[in-house]
Amino acid sequence: MINALPPSPIHPTVDFERDGVQHGFLRLPYSRDDSAWGSVMIPITTICNGEGPTALLTGANHGDEYEGPIALFDLARSLKPEEITGRVIIVPAMNYPAFCAGTRTSPIDRGNLNRSFPGRPDGTVTQKIADYFTRNLLPLADLVLDFHSGGKTLDFVPFAAAHILPDKEQEARCFAAVEAFSAPYSVRMLEIDAVGMYDTTAETLGKVFVTTELGGGGTARAETARIAKRGVRNVLRHAGILGGPIEKAPTRFIDMPSDDCFLFAEADGLIETCIDLGEPVRKGDVLARVYPIGRTGLAPAEYQAKLDGILVARHFPGLVKAGDCLAVLGTIED
Ligand code: ZN
Repeated sequence: MINALPPSPIHPTVDFERDGVQHGFLRLPYSRDDSAWGSVMIPITTICNGEGPTALLTGANHGDEYEGPIALFDLARSLKPEEITGRVIIVPAMNYPAFCAGTRTSPIDRGNLNRSFPGRPDGTVTQKIADYFTRNLLPLADLVLDFHSGGKTLDFVPFAAAHILPDKEQEARCFAAVEAFSAPYSVRMLEIDAVGMYDTTAETLGKVFVTTELGGGGTARAETARIAKRGVRNVLRHAGILGGPIEKAPTRFIDMPSDDCFLFAEADGLIETCIDLGEPVRKGDVLARVYPIGRTGLAPAEYQAKLDGILVARHFPGLVKAGDCLAVLGTIED
């Protein structure tokens, strides 16, 4: 059925089969008022050296998440073909229009790339990017590493993650790559909204898939940028693409056993976060208070932990709206 679709309108300016380094673009035709035959030019690098596995490395699937682009623009410039066996395909800013705008979703079509998979060749700009990854890039890959962070509205303890999968052998290969990444935390991740995700598409195609949440707040910190740069090279070493030993660092395994991990605001207001990221919590502890801001004299709403664990994510801006994710808990496995 997938073969009945028309070909992608995206044209790569690199040859995926050629040895050496190529810096080019995925050129996506985008006809518009200020450029009748214009294009979106998504930067891409391929580094190839003979037969071997292929790694597909991506950042800025969401445009306001920065550790991935930092690590991948750096890797694209510094990784030499003679250092590797196989192929590395680097797209530092997958949703390039969103990345240029500094927003989670695309300013062109408001598309959230990580809710647009498997995409459409005849859809919006964001759907066309998703379709190109689904039908042209993912089939080339053995291992896929997709960097995320919290963006402007969330902040995370730095972790690499994989998902529970029906194929336990594939799941084990994913978690081995997560462990090789050597982030401070390694998470068995529960998604609240897995439909349309790049993750789900890559996993369904049988790939080894690693994702991350490395920080947030709409910026990157020195520590999280270092974790990203080390992690991507570690994953390439783990895959046998890059030589040399894995630069191990201590990691704590975290589980997300149920929907009780997530707390959502039920009213607008001013948030007082009562626990900092990484701190332990007990069931019943107050994680956050949300103060009504329309007048004085009203009690804040208190949001309590529904299980024992640690705080792995929190709302970042100081004001919240009903429905916002306030806090995410995980349970320590080790
Ligand atoms: Zn993201």
